[in-house]
Amino acid sequence: MVKRWRWDQGRLTYFRFENIKKICEGLVELEGSNIGRDGDPFIREVLTSRTGLSFAPTTYTLWRNYARVFACALIATQLDGNLRVTDIGQRLAGVDSSEIDVDEYFSFWIPRFYLPSPAFQDYTPSDNRVFPLCAVLKYLFAQLLEHGEALIELSQVFSLIIGNNCNGCEPLEHYRALKMVERLPIGDEERQVREMLIFASQMSWLKWYSGALIIDLVRDDLQSIEDLLGFVEPLQNHRSPTQQQEILALGRVTAEIKEPFSLATREIPEDILFTEARKVRVTHLRTERSPQLRRLYFSRNPLPVCDMCTCDMRQRYPWTSNILEVHHLLPLSSAITITGAGTSIEDVVGLCPNCHRSVHVYYKQWFERNLVDDFSSKDEAKEVYQLAKEAIRL
Ligand SMILES: [Zn+2]
Ligand SMILES: [Zn+2]
Repeated sequence: MVKRWRWDQGRLTYFRFENIKKICEGLVELEGSNIGRDGDPFIREVLTSRTGLSFAPTTYTLWRNYARVFACALIATQLDGNLRVTDIGQRLAGVDSSEIDVDEYFSFWIPRFYLPSPAFQDYTPSDNRVFPLCAVLKYLFAQLLEHGEALIELSQVFSLIIGNNCNGCEPLEHYRALKMVERLPIGDEERQVREMLIFASQMSWLKWYSGALIIDLVRDDLQSIEDLLGFVEPLQNHRSPTQQQEILALGRVTAEIKEPFSLATREIPEDILFTEARKVRVTHLRTERSPQLRRLYFSRNPLPVCDMCTCDMRQRYPWTSNILEVHHLLPLSSAITITGAGTSIEDVVGLCPNCHRSVHVYYKQWFERNLVDDFSSKDEAKEVYQLAKEAIRL
């Protein structure tokens, strides 16, 4: 029986999907490196320069302090003191140009992450397993199917999921009628569970705000219940004897990684002008058309003033309440930024439909001129947005 849920706390910045990808690029470069004192300066140099993150403190080896991040994310481990990147870590780094997006990554990760995790010392291959995200998502799906919307507060994760010893393997039906049980967090458990859920909330159809994990789907997104269930069904692999071998096994990519939702409700025929069916551009639109992101953004920015042309939409079209659209300022393949408070709107602006369409055309031309598919960094993405903004003739 799993006594408590665990996660590597205090590392949310490192767990940002953006940073996970950059860390993977560095790890691939470091494949086979010595993780001890001897190899540490090289590991530190590659990872800090790739990611811009500090990997503090420097009094210990980077491996000692950050190996749990790599293991929790299933991207790397060590064998005989040498760094080993998993298959999924290589895919995230874009090796053989088969880069995967945030939703694909989590579709892979969710059925594989269990407790007691091989990321931690308490790993025992014979223990009963709990698949925390499978359990939480089954609860959310059961609610969504019944009520058309669903969220779970952190305290309910304890009283409904952990308190009832849910392990993620039960049928969806089981999650429909869970009764509240008193189950208080043990030690740092509350923080650890929160940060684990914030990590997973980077998927384009999950959000975390006001202390709750919110499912960001509408019923029409659930085209096939079979796909949905396949996605939250734990992968019952035969466990390896050591933590390290188990991380490598869990990170192995053996089949095509498939997302459970097409999110067709976030697409319109005109999209093709911008997307030309390219995956990263489709991802951008899926990300910024999230109904929950829109709700969150406009609850904090109630005035419908376009960030580019500064036009107040309600003044110009007095019969409308808010026709602004949400535009995401990070590279197209990026997830919405997460912080300790959850889903962040710091990289999001409101644009009128004309400016929004125009900025996407600007991006498309910029990509063509520079022979790239996406911006290479947050700064570059924001710079190009500024250029477009300055090029408008008002
Ligand atoms: Zn505008
Ligand atoms: Zn946009």
